Amino acid sequence: MGNKIKDKNGSLPSALAAKTSVEKALQESEKHFRALIENSTDAIALINPLGKVIYASPSVQKILGYTPEEFIGKNGLMLVHPQDRSMTMRELSRILLKPGSNATVEVRVKHKNGSWVFVESRGMNLLLDPNVRAIVSNFRDITERRLMEDKVRISEIRYRTMIEQSPMSTQILSPSGITLMVNRAWEKLWGAKLEQLKDYNMLKDKQLVELGIMPYVKKGFNGEPTHIPAVRYEPSKTVPNATKVPYRWVSAIIYPVKDDEGDIQEVVLIHEDITKQKIAEEKLRQSEQQLQAILDESPAVIFVKDLEGRYFLINRQFEKIFNISRSKIKGKTDYEVFPKETADHVTRHDRRVVKTGKPLEFEEVVPHKDGPHTYISVKFPLYDESGMIYAVCGIATDITERKQAEERKDDFISVASHELRTPITSIKIFNQILEQRLKSGKDKKLLEHVEKMDVQINKLSVLISDLLDLARIRSGKFKFRKELLSIDDLIKETVVSLAEAETKQTIIVKGQVMKKVQADRYRIGQVLINLISNAIKYSPNSDRIVVQSKQDTEKVTVSVTDFGIGIPKKAQDKIFERFFRVEGKEEKTYPGFGIGLYVSSEIVKRHNGKIWVESEKGKGSTFYFTIPFK
Ligand code: ADP
Repeated sequence: MGNKIKDKNGSLPSALAAKTSVEKALQESEKHFRALIENSTDAIALINPLGKVIYASPSVQKILGYTPEEFIGKNGLMLVHPQDRSMTMRELSRILLKPGSNATVEVRVKHKNGSWVFVESRGMNLLLDPNVRAIVSNFRDITERRLMEDKVRISEIRYRTMIEQSPMSTQILSPSGITLMVNRAWEKLWGAKLEQLKDYNMLKDKQLVELGIMPYVKKGFNGEPTHIPAVRYEPSKTVPNATKVPYRWVSAIIYPVKDDEGDIQEVVLIHEDITKQKIAEEKLRQSEQQLQAILDESPAVIFVKDLEGRYFLINRQFEKIFNISRSKIKGKTDYEVFPKETADHVTRHDRRVVKTGKPLEFEEVVPHKDGPHTYISVKFPLYDESGMIYAVCGIATDITERKQAEERKDDFISVASHELRTPITSIKIFNQILEQRLKSGKDKKLLEHVEKMDVQINKLSVLISDLLDLARIRSGKFKFRKELLSIDDLIKETVVSLAEAETKQTIIVKGQVMKKVQADRYRIGQVLINLISNAIKYSPNSDRIVVQSKQDTEKVTVSVTDFGIGIPKKAQDKIFERFFRVEGKEEKTYPGFGIGLYVSSEIVKRHNGKIWVESEKGKGSTFYFTIPFK
């Protein structure tokens, strides 16, 4: 257009003068426009219908790097990003078809340095305007704005994705309480979809009022991030078309999202599902209650003490017997509950349990109102997860009455055996006189009877002396007189004396022990008699018994082997107990009290030796005992 303005035509002077003033005015206005165009941050380009640039304002350099001179002649379309090109062409052809029309596009245009610049371009078809005859494109750089918009969009996407993907159940509500969005975790937690909350308004939820948490919810909706304490929520109670879930224990965080002005845009609610935890807690509580009930109903005294000996659990029986409540005893030690002597005694046992790490059994004597009581206490360590002992538990059974009954029985045996011994001794003496007399007479038959009587009297006196020994052991009056003696001599003597009574079996003596032992001749002889008579008694159908002695550096071992009825495995430990007799059809036919082996084992123990049996049912038994040299 500059060209046109600058054209000069010849004229008349008056007309010339008039023309000159018009031209002047025109020139002035052109200057103004030019100044406007050239100083504007927006650039202007004139483009012909083929897309070629025929004019560019100076601002083009600021936006696209080209000087106007460089820019003129370029095809504008070719500078548009390939992805935006078809859209640009579409808009261009639209305005080409309609003179005077315009269109605005946002396109990426290549900068001289090769980068892409976001440009907003407003094109106007002025092809028919005689003064312009071009498409006027007015454009400006909007890269900054686009970047900002992208940032906002991305952060919006990020925010939504985060919520969507979060493993925490999340619900987004409008400030008026309507649910706008729920995430997948929410759907999973409640087994429902957003549609089901169409008619639900959180601020009108009666259940939240009942549960006492509406004030917390309100606080959140009023703009204060709030933690909502855990409640047991039942959706079907308030949500019209509810969910598949009967209830959930949930705690929640509610926080309002505000805009720059501080107005609440939406309210976010994040649930924490603690149902499993609550169920586990409930189960734990139940099992604790059950355990306490079992402990309380037990007739035994039960307690748990920590490693410093401080009580932290006792049962009702404990409370009753020692007249102390569990709240009072908590944290106290035995020294604060019992006399020092008792506390010392039981504390020693507790320490042993901690030291060995195993359950142990003790007899403990504890004072009661009516005097001392004896308990059998099983004490065992309690281990924590890391395998460390943290406490000692005790279960104590009062055996005072049982003990008293046993003492009465022992007293009875003691008295009875004493009372029986005197008449038996005199019967034996009279019988021996009778025997002497008959030996010189002719009545052989009567002599035989009297001799048989003597055998029976001997058996009776053995039984009575066993009973007496038993009573002595029980009352602690079992006395020993030890001397240096030869075991082999003692075996020989014993076997000879036993062989006098006619028996079916031959007693074979094997082995040689040179070294003498410190022992009570009478008592060890008693052990031998016992073992050999048992061997005879319990092997009626065999013909021999083997008695053997051996020595090593530490001890003498004596064994007595028979080939008789044998002893079943499960009875083998018990036969050394008082009054124990093997039960069975066969065994019933053998007379006895079940005292002999008990007395024998007590004798061996008092010699620091051991006694045991190896036996097989139906094949025979070997009894062993040892006497150490030292
Ligand atoms: P008892 O007077 O009953 O023989 P003991 O104390 O001597 O009492 O023995 C205890 C029990 O051990 C016996 O009743 C018997 O059942 C079993 N017993 C002892 N010795 C033998 C043996 N040699 N063979 C089989 N059983 C035996």
